[in-house]
Amino acid sequence: MPLNVDFTGKVVVVTGAGGVLCSTMARAFAQAGAKVAALDLNEEAVKALAEECKAEGFICEGYKANVLEPEALEEVHQQVLKDLGPCDILVNGAGGNNPRATTDNEYQHEAKEGQKTFFDLDASGVDFVFRLNFQGTLLPTQTFAKDMVARKSGCILNISSMNAYIPLTKIPAYSGAKAAISNFTQWLATHFAGTGIRCNAIAPGFLVSNQNRKLLFNEDGTPTARTAKILGGTPTGRFVDSEELLGGLFFLCDDKAASAITGVVLPIDAGFSAYSGV
Ligand code: NAD
Repeated sequence: MPLNVDFTGKVVVVTGAGGVLCSTMARAFAQAGAKVAALDLNEEAVKALAEECKAEGFICEGYKANVLEPEALEEVHQQVLKDLGPCDILVNGAGGNNPRATTDNEYQHEAKEGQKTFFDLDASGVDFVFRLNFQGTLLPTQTFAKDMVARKSGCILNISSMNAYIPLTKIPAYSGAKAAISNFTQWLATHFAGTGIRCNAIAPGFLVSNQNRKLLFNEDGTPTARTAKILGGTPTGRFVDSEELLGGLFFLCDDKAASAITGVVLPIDAGFSAYSGV
């Protein structure tokens, strides 16, 4: 059978594993038999995740790691080699936006007290978002793909976004940075072609998480105007659940099921990216 969810013995390195989506992914890989290295700036979060996984009988170690510091990444790499072995699958999950690179309103051009327009965006905020998402994917790939080249097999999985296809209002830097991730996914797939390493990405659609719940729902549970826009732009009229990312993740990381698949960005978006609105 081409589909058999079993990552027994595979060493899976997940960056951003202290966060909402990638902790779900790291835990699922551990439950599927993998030896998981959970990396995050937030050491407490990945240590707690590792303890939870171990308590359930799965293999997971937590490591403090900044995806923007190559030397520190190499130190973590050496520790992962000792603890778990060479990396088979790398999930580049660390990423995100920053308020300093976000406008307050969609179509506001005139300055207003206390409101940030496009003209007020902070260059250092824009730089932060590009660095975190792009360099934060490139640097761990430089570090951990060495294990894969040496063994002539491996899989890299990047996290793109809906904003990579068509930019979302208010977040020019995050949209540009995720477009760069989709582009880099194709670049890596081509660069490593012939080495046995595949590189793909998933592009999650709109999810409800604790971080954005207040933006999406009023206190009485009714949807906000933003939710109406999102669901109006999604032909199936629904959000995506974080657990629904796992099927695409496992499929793309499975050397048998996805043996001929490299350089793709898989939208997991309930149809959002396919819909023109008409
Ligand atoms: P999150 O904020 O919950 O998790 C991100 C994690 O990355 C955090 O634990 C944070 O500590 C860590 N991190 C930040 N900077 C780091 C650094 N320099 N080094 C190491 N770790 C660092 O975010 P999430 O919603 O789980 O998103 C995970 C990925 O999915 C991100 O790449 C994000 O851009 C992408 N994504 C999210 C959504 C969504 O709706 N949540 C949609 C599309 C794409």
